[in-house]
Amino acid sequence: MAAGGVSEAPSRAPRQGVVLVVDDDHTMRLLARQALERAGFVVVEAGDGQAALAAFREHAPDVVLLDVQMPKLDGFETCRALRDSGAGRFTPVMMMTGLDDLESIEKAYDAGATDFINKPLNWLILGHRLEYILRSSRAFERLRVSQAKLANAQRIARLGYWEWVPGSDRLYCSGQLRRIFELPQGHQPGSLQELALFVHEDQRGHFLDTIQDLLSGKSVTDFEYRIRTAQGTERYVRQHAESLHDDQGQVTRVTSTIQDVTEQREAEEKVRYLAYYDGLTGLPNRRSFTETLQRILRDPRFRNDSTAVMFVDLDRLNQVNESLGRTAGDELVRQASQRIVSCVRSTDMVARAAQQNHQHLVSRFDGDEFVILLTKLSDIDATAHIAQRLGEALAEPFDVDGQTIFVTASIGIGVFSHDGDSPEQLLRNAHLAAEHAKETEGQSCQFYTESLNEAARARLVLETDLRRALIRGELELRYQPQFAIADNSVVGAEALLRWRHPEQGLISPATFVPLAEEIGLIHEIGEWVLETACLQAQAWQEELAHPFRVGVNISNRQFLGNGLIATVRRALAGSRLDPRSLELELTESVILGADDNELSQLSELRALGLKLAIDDFGTGYSSLGYLAEFPVDALKIDRSFIRDVPGSPQKEALVRAIVAMGHSLDLRVTAEGVETDEQLDFLRTLGCEEQQGFLMGRPMPAEELSAFLDGSAEGARRHAGG
Ligand code: C2E
Ligand code: MG
Ligand code: MG
Repeated sequence: MAAGGVSEAPSRAPRQGVVLVVDDDHTMRLLARQALERAGFVVVEAGDGQAALAAFREHAPDVVLLDVQMPKLDGFETCRALRDSGAGRFTPVMMMTGLDDLESIEKAYDAGATDFINKPLNWLILGHRLEYILRSSRAFERLRVSQAKLANAQRIARLGYWEWVPGSDRLYCSGQLRRIFELPQGHQPGSLQELALFVHEDQRGHFLDTIQDLLSGKSVTDFEYRIRTAQGTERYVRQHAESLHDDQGQVTRVTSTIQDVTEQREAEEKVRYLAYYDGLTGLPNRRSFTETLQRILRDPRFRNDSTAVMFVDLDRLNQVNESLGRTAGDELVRQASQRIVSCVRSTDMVARAAQQNHQHLVSRFDGDEFVILLTKLSDIDATAHIAQRLGEALAEPFDVDGQTIFVTASIGIGVFSHDGDSPEQLLRNAHLAAEHAKETEGQSCQFYTESLNEAARARLVLETDLRRALIRGELELRYQPQFAIADNSVVGAEALLRWRHPEQGLISPATFVPLAEEIGLIHEIGEWVLETACLQAQAWQEELAHPFRVGVNISNRQFLGNGLIATVRRALAGSRLDPRSLELELTESVILGADDNELSQLSELRALGLKLAIDDFGTGYSSLGYLAEFPVDALKIDRSFIRDVPGSPQKEALVRAIVAMGHSLDLRVTAEGVETDEQLDFLRTLGCEEQQGFLMGRPMPAEELSAFLDGSAEGARRHAGG
C-alpha cells in the first residue's frame, strides 16, 4: 500500500467502528493500524489531506485520527474541510499534536476537532481513547437526532418552550416560541417581565400570578391567554408550566410549554358566533339574549334597579318580502336594526351620564322581531322615552334599493319583576304587549299589564264564539254609500261586515277578521259576505232600475287560498247579479306581491266582468309606478292620508300624486274616510272621482241605505248647498 494511497476496504465486520487514520508517515500508519485492529477497529488509511477527504467520502468512517503536519493540505485545513462537507459535520476528529504544543491544540479546536492526543502516541491507550470518543459521539448523535425530532414535533404542534431561572431572572425561549410570538431574528424576551409584556393587558396579572404560584409551592399550572405578538397580531396560547426544585426545595427553574391554539379558538369563536348571533344583522340572537337575561335576572347587582324587556315588532316586513323580494326585506331589517341600535346607544349615553354600570342589549329574535334588554334604568319612564325615540326613528322613511318604504313598529314593554320574574315570563308578557300595541289603532307602544293576559284569555273565548257565529246568524253586513265627488250622487256602497255578539254587542271586523284569518274561518265567512252582498246589490238594481255597484272586501288569506274564483262565480250565479256591479277590494300587498299564478287569477276574476279595486292604497308602498302592470280598475286612498289633508304638506303631496298617477293609468280614485268639508273640497280640486266617509254616509243596514237612496238626490243637493 503506497503512501498517499488508501488501504483496502476492510473485509471483516467492525466491532468498534471504522477509523480513518491520516498521516504522511507510513510507519506511524502501520503502527496505528496494528494497535487499532487489535482493539477491534477497522482501519482505513490516507497518506495526506486530499486522500483523506476522498477516503472519507468513500468509507464514511465513524472516527478520524488526523495528523497535524502533512504536506499539501495540513491537518487543520483537512479538519476544516471535513466539517464544511455535509457528511463530516458531526464525525469525531481526534488530532495528533506535538507534546505541549499549546498553539496547535488551540488551532485544532478552532478547526473543529473533537479532541487531541499527544505524539508520540501510547499505542496501548489509543484504542481506548477512540472508543470513548466514539461512545460520546454516538450519545451526542442520538441527542441531536432526538432534539431535531422534538423541534420538528414542536413546530408541527405549534408548541413553543420557555425556561426561566428565577435567581438570575434569565429567560430562554425556543425557536418555535419565537415564531409564535413573531419575534424578529435575534430578538427574544430576556426576562419574565419582558415575556409578560406580550400577554394581553387584562390577563397579564393572572399570568404573573401563575408564576408566583409555582414559586410558592405549586408544581404545575395551566393557563390560557391572549398575546399580542411583536407584529401586533393577536393569538391565543395555552401554557403548561412546571417548577423544578433543588435538594432544599428551592425553585431553580420554571419550564413551560406554550401551544398556539389560535386556530382552535377561532373555529370555536365562529361556531359560537353562529350559535349566538344573527347572521343578517350581527346582533345577538334569541338564544344569546335569553341566556344574558337569565344571568342578569339572577345577578343581585341588577335586582335593585329597573330592568325591562322591550319587544319591537316591525309591521310591514312581510309585505316588503312579498312584493319586493327577500333581499329587499333583508336590507330593510338591516337598516332597521342599525336605527334601533343607535337609538338605544344614544339613550345609553344619557344613562351613562346619570349612572354608571348600565347595560343595554339589542337582539334580533327572528324575522321582524327585535328584543331589547334595558338594565340599570333610573326609572320606568326612561323605558317609555326609549320606546318613543325608537318609534320615531323607525317611522322615518327607509330607502331600500331606491324604493322609499314606510315602516311602523309595535313596541311592547315588560318590566322586571312587576311583569314577570323569570326570563320566559318577562319575554312572553313583553311580546303580548307588543301584539296588543299592534292591534290597538294609533298606539305603537304598550306596557304589559295584567289585563293583557285577560285579553289573551278573552281572545280564546272569542275564537270559540266566532266558530259558531256563522251558524247562529250573528254576522251582518252594513253598507257605506260611495259618492261621486262631482255631483254628490250615490254611485255604490261598500259592504262592511259586523258581528253581533250575543253578549258583547257589535264587534268590529278589525277585531275578528284577523282572528278568522288565523283560524281559517275566513273562507266560509268570505263566501257568506259575497253571497249576501251580491243578493243585496241585485235587489237594489231592481229597485232603482239602474246599475248600482257594491264593493266587497277580500282578505289576503281569502285571495291566496284559491277557490276564490269559484266562490265569486257561485255568488254571481246565485244572485243573477250583473258582474259589472260587483267590485272586489283587495289590499295593496296582495296585488303588488302577486306572482305569475296569482296575477293570472286576478285577470281571470276581471274576465268575469267584475271590477278590482286596491283598498287602503298608499299604506304599503310609495312606489306608484308599479301599478301599471296590474289588472285593476280603481284605487281607494287610505283613510290615514285623507285624515291629514288639507294641512300636512307631505300627505297633500302624496294624495295629489296618487290621484294624478291613478288618472294617468286610467284608474278611478276613491278617497276613504272623508269626514270634513275641507277634505272634500281638497279632493274636488284634485279631480278625485269618488269619496266615502262619515261626512256624507256612515255604514248602515241595507234597509237604511234603501231609504237613503230614495232621498239621496235631495240630500245631495242639500249638502252641495244648492
Ligand atoms: P276598509 O275596507 O278600508 O273599510 C273602510 C273602513 O273605514 C270601515 O271600517 C269604515 O267604517 C271606516 N270608515 C269609513 N268612513 C270613515 C270615516 O269617515 N271615518 C272613520 N274614522 N272611519 C271610516 P270597518 O267597517 O270597521 O272595517 C274595517 C276593515 O275591516 C275594512 O277596512 C276592511 O279591511 C275589513 N272588512 C270589513 N268588512 C270586511 C269583509 O266583509 N271581509 C273582509 N275580509 N274584511 C272586511
Ligand atoms: Mg274596503
Ligand atoms: Mg280601506
